Amino acid sequence: MIIIMLGAQGTGKGTVAGLISEEIGIPQISTGDIFRKNISEKSALGIEADKYISKGNLVPDEITVPMVDDRLKWEDAKDGAILDGFPRTIEQAEKLDEILSKNGKKVDLVINLVTPKDEIIDRMLTRRVCTNQDCKATYNIKLHPPKKEGICDKCGAVLKQREDDSDPEAIKKRLEIYEEKTSPLVEYYKNKGILRTETISMSINRMGTDVAKEVIGEIKK
Ligand code: ADP
Ligand code: ZN
Repeated sequence: MIIIMLGAQGTGKGTVAGLISEEIGIPQISTGDIFRKNISEKSALGIEADKYISKGNLVPDEITVPMVDDRLKWEDAKDGAILDGFPRTIEQAEKLDEILSKNGKKVDLVINLVTPKDEIIDRMLTRRVCTNQDCKATYNIKLHPPKKEGICDKCGAVLKQREDDSDPEAIKKRLEIYEEKTSPLVEYYKNKGILRTETISMSINRMGTDVAKEVIGEIKK
C-alpha cells in the first residue's frame, strides 16, 4: 500500500506518517529526513541539497526523484511505503506515478492535513527534532513535549530546532512555495478519487494522533 502525506509545513505530516508506519509495518519515507541525514554526513548529495534547503527552496527534481526511486526499491518497501514530503509538485507526482506503475503499483491513499495558518507558524517555531539521525523523532515543546526537556524520549539524544524552522524568512518562503507548487496536488489527487482531507487544529481539539488512529483502524479492517 502506498500512502502519501500532503499538507503544509507544521501540520503534523511526520507525526501521522510515523504512527501509521509503525502500526501498518510499512516504512515512512521522508525526503526531508533523507536530505538532513545526508547534510549531517556531508555526503555529496547532502552538500548539494543544502544549497537549496538552507534558503527554503525546493531541491531540484534531478536530485530528489532518483533518490525516492532508489529508496522505494529497498526490501522494506516491497509491500508499500508512506511518503512524507514527496511529491511536492505536479511534476513529481507524475514521475511518482511512472515509477510506481513500472512496478505494478499505484498511490492508494493521500492524507491531506489542513491547519490554520497562525497555528502552523507557531507549530514550526515550537517544533524540535532529535539530533540522532537514526531516530529523528519530532517533538513540539507546547503540544507534545519530551518527558525530559531537550532530550529525546526514544533514544536519549539531544533535541534541537531545525535550522530552517528558526529562520522566519525561510519559513515564509517554504509556506509560499507550498501554496504555489504543492497545493495543486490536492486537486490532482482529488480527481483520482484517493484524497482524504483532515483538519488538524487546537481549536477543534483534533490532533494528528486522532487522524492516525482512525486511518490505522480503517486500514486494519
Ligand atoms: P518542511 O515540510 O517543513 O519544509 P521537510 O522536512 O519536508 O520540511 O523538507 C525540508 C526541505 O527539504 C524542504 O524545505 C525542501 O528544501 C527539501 N525537500 C524535501 N522534500 C522535497 C521534495 N519532494 N522536493 C524538493 N525539495 C524537497
Ligand atoms: Zn531520538
